Amino acid sequence: MNATYETQSSTNAAQVREYDAIVIGAGVSGLYQLYQLRELGLKALVLESGTNVGGTWYWNRYPGARFDSESWTYGYSFSEELLQEWNWTEHFAPQPETERYLNYVANKFDLRRDIQFHSRVSAAHYREETRGWDVTLEDGRRYHTRLLITAIGVLSAPTMPRIAGVETFKGQSCHTAHWPKEPVNFEGKRVAVIGTGATAVQTIQTIAKEVGHLTVFQRTPNWCAPLHNSRISEEEMRQIRARYPEIFARCHETPGCFIHSPDPRSALEVMPEEREAFFEKLYGEPGFGIWQANFRDILVDREANSLISDFVARKIRQRVKDPAVAEKLIPKNHGFGTRRVPLETHYYEVYNQPNVRLVDINETPIERITPAGIKTSDAEYEFDLIIYATGFDAITGSFDRIDIRGVDGRRLKDAWKSGPQTYLGVLVEGFPNLLMVMGPHAGLGNFPRAAEYSVEWVTGLIRHARDHGLTRIEATQAGTARWTDHVKALGEGLLSNEVNSWMTGVNSNVEGKQTRKIMRYGGGYPSYREHCDAVAADGYHEIALGEAQANQPGGGEKA
Ligand SMILES: Cc1cc2nc3c(=O)[nH]c(=O)nc-3n(C[C@H](O)[C@H](O)[C@H](O)COP(=O)(O)OP(=O)(O)OC[C@H]3O[C@@H](n4cnc5c(N)ncnc54)[C@H](O)[C@@H]3O)c2cc1C
Repeated sequence: MNATYETQSSTNAAQVREYDAIVIGAGVSGLYQLYQLRELGLKALVLESGTNVGGTWYWNRYPGARFDSESWTYGYSFSEELLQEWNWTEHFAPQPETERYLNYVANKFDLRRDIQFHSRVSAAHYREETRGWDVTLEDGRRYHTRLLITAIGVLSAPTMPRIAGVETFKGQSCHTAHWPKEPVNFEGKRVAVIGTGATAVQTIQTIAKEVGHLTVFQRTPNWCAPLHNSRISEEEMRQIRARYPEIFARCHETPGCFIHSPDPRSALEVMPEEREAFFEKLYGEPGFGIWQANFRDILVDREANSLISDFVARKIRQRVKDPAVAEKLIPKNHGFGTRRVPLETHYYEVYNQPNVRLVDINETPIERITPAGIKTSDAEYEFDLIIYATGFDAITGSFDRIDIRGVDGRRLKDAWKSGPQTYLGVLVEGFPNLLMVMGPHAGLGNFPRAAEYSVEWVTGLIRHARDHGLTRIEATQAGTARWTDHVKALGEGLLSNEVNSWMTGVNSNVEGKQTRKIMRYGGGYPSYREHCDAVAADGYHEIALGEAQANQPGGGEKA
């Protein structure tokens, strides 16, 4: 291990375990970050609150959970051997397969020996005298690390609805992100689903086949489009394997790191028949094409957006037999693609089943959960099972749940009160040696494609610091202001930023999250990468990098 990063505990070594780097989270991002830290020769530990690896794919085991990304674009690309060994069985893999994949990765690279499960980080406090972080778990165990790396996910802090009486329900109830590992029997049961986001859509279309009766409580309908999933034959997988370099090169070029990229035409410049045929083609193809490969202006121009919204509304009217129900399922307060588009398989047809009921809670709000079920303003419903598909306190939620304090005890939560302020989505001024993988204001997209880059960039910065005997890494005020202003400017004109959703940081179930904020980098991944590459090529000059000092652990060891 490099001496520059060696730290000695100034407190009782028996109580406080020492690391060069602690990573929080053992999902797609944390696993790869651990792999990279080991390559650097650092003594690293991953702390994970769950009991196994997988993150999203460990927690979200609700019925029907699966990718909306093509499976073969989602796997890691860093190991040719891994790519050649792993077989995806469906174009959009179900959760159990992805969980198996991430377990396979953890085993193959022997990652588990540096992962500690059952370990929820409750606090992380920076100490200037050690240039390190004191990390505390909720059960009181303590650690000290020079570098603290968050890989805590953008959709990993589940939220329950703020409805009175949740705890009084006598039947079974569950949030989709805390789904039990044991199978849940739906046969003959009266089931309620609260929520109609991407998770709810997958749940509803899956359990509708089994339940006795299903009631869906909807506040905001979403624009859903067909997934068109299918199995991958052995021959097809062989061809995919041969095409991996081409597939990843394609994802590298597109704004969302998917295989889909926007059509260069405007929706307004083509003839109506041509436009209709194009929409029809996209609606008939697998995956996010209808969202990500549509006309270039559907997400920025209201008129263009209303054309695709009208098209999808017509599809919903065709698919749902009862016109009144169809109207309820058509979003009226936002256009197509301005919120995350759930991909579905016969979702709309579920509402043609005689045992399925849709309750619009704008018309008849839920007043409370009762011991027997749910009471709305006009009825009392009885249920055996209530499913809360009420989503996440997204992007900053998992940060807010940790007491993170930087220089002079300043809380991260306070620093971000009026919205995230970061440098490249990786660093925060006043929080030295805290590095975020896929942090707020970083580029987002098909996740592992973006996360691999994020991890490699973070690792490059750590390597640079180590090689130059630098033990303090911090964003500057100027760099942070430049990046934050840049991200805000990019967000202007995007229709998605004019809509309440997790992508704009709004969650009616979380106090203080009622106002829209710019939470994501809106310039497309290639542009994000260009910015980050330029910072690295320039020797990280916009980052304050402090040399090791003689009186500090690792001091005097400047390489
Ligand atoms: C249902 C669902 C479907 C999705 N589908 C897709 C898709 O098709 N394509 C796509 O690209 N993305 C999808 N996503 C996004 C998904 O989150 C990413 O693809 C990816 O799994 C994120 O990986 P991660 O490692 O960054 O975060 P996560 O997988 O969220 O892992 C973070 C980990 O950190 C742990 N953690 C958090 N806080 C603490 C703490 N205080 N102490 C200890 N541990 C902590 C959590 O337990 C978790 O295991 C989906 C998300 C959800 C919820």
